Amino acid sequence: MLETAQTEPHHSERGPVICRACENPDARVFLELGEVPTNSMVLLDTREQAISYPKGRLTLAFCDSCGFIFNPDFDPALVDYSQSYESSQAFSPRFNEFAARLAKSLADEYDLAGKTVVEIGCGGGDFLQQVELQGIGKGIGVDPAADPGKRVEDATTSLSFIREFFSEEHGALNPDFLCCRHTLEHIPDPAQFVRTVRRSLGESSSVPVFFEVPDTLRVLKEAAFWDVYYEHCSYFTPESMAALFEQEGFTDIRTELDFDDQYLLLHCMPVQAGERDEGDREYVRQLADEVEAFSEKYRRHIDGWSKFIGEAADAGKRVVVWGGGSKGVAFVNSVPGGDRVDFIVDINPAKQEKFAAGTGHRIAGPDALRSAVPDVVLVMNPIYEDEIADTLRSMNIHAEVRSV
Ligand SMILES: [Zn+2]
Repeated sequence: MLETAQTEPHHSERGPVICRACENPDARVFLELGEVPTNSMVLLDTREQAISYPKGRLTLAFCDSCGFIFNPDFDPALVDYSQSYESSQAFSPRFNEFAARLAKSLADEYDLAGKTVVEIGCGGGDFLQQVELQGIGKGIGVDPAADPGKRVEDATTSLSFIREFFSEEHGALNPDFLCCRHTLEHIPDPAQFVRTVRRSLGESSSVPVFFEVPDTLRVLKEAAFWDVYYEHCSYFTPESMAALFEQEGFTDIRTELDFDDQYLLLHCMPVQAGERDEGDREYVRQLADEVEAFSEKYRRHIDGWSKFIGEAADAGKRVVVWGGGSKGVAFVNSVPGGDRVDFIVDINPAKQEKFAAGTGHRIAGPDALRSAVPDVVLVMNPIYEDEIADTLRSMNIHAEVRSV
């Protein structure tokens, strides 16, 4: 067997798998990426620890009944969110600006002044603090990894945190608004989870519900392989996400894209007893075509970057990756020859002088570029390209800046 066979995607000969959104038994595997680090966010203290980090199988399956895309090989036991987990993007001005704007628009639309807001999967509570600034009465974060220690200094005391997984019993918190951002994509049984949220609200509830996840249609169209990683086991498009919420007892569903169309936002209301809608499923056919094209585009994309990095390195150029989040780590791990990237730059001090799981790349602050001047800077998120180019100019570094 060829040594590269593990990482090469290919058409699967595996039989059908059960859809975890609608229980259709005929979902089909369309991509097998082999073994990848089970946590692309985790940063290790030594290169040795990073290289020997546990791996799990990253496989993608598509349900041609509801459009859901998921990893049927996902094993939640392999994901450890407690250890050195750093998911906060709160260090980016661009992301903060988005969160602040979103908090304001939600507060305006749902008239949240003086109300109780519950956030599921609140992490360090960054977003809840943004909502708090809108004058809500009470904010409660429910998250087993809630870390209120990270609160900003000027926050008031109207926030509280419950370090538990969200359950039906948390309905007793009596929210006036319930939100959940960047969590559903980590849950292997999203139908069960959305059902729990619905049940927590009770039969006659009129509590608005808001969910946000990465948009997968963009990932498929752009063959954004760095947005497919182990911790994300559930992948949604606007239509498949709406279908799931409809199936589990929500109505008045509205979806929109934001953050340069990278994020998918869903607003909905609980269905009152007796009511039901059933949307049409025509979108699934179009999605099936996108899924078909994805594998081919994936191959081309990954080959293109492999060639680019290889040629630059052969010419004696120093290539660095800017962005030590999951995208940067997925990139160096997925692209053959990704180990020829010199190191990874990140502005978040919590990530600096750590090592990326899998390849073991060192993550350094921008200051490291003064002594190890790069020829090429690969930007992991095009949205930050201007911000990064400005920083390089201010450091008098004239590298080629390319967005991946
Ligand atoms: Zn399905």
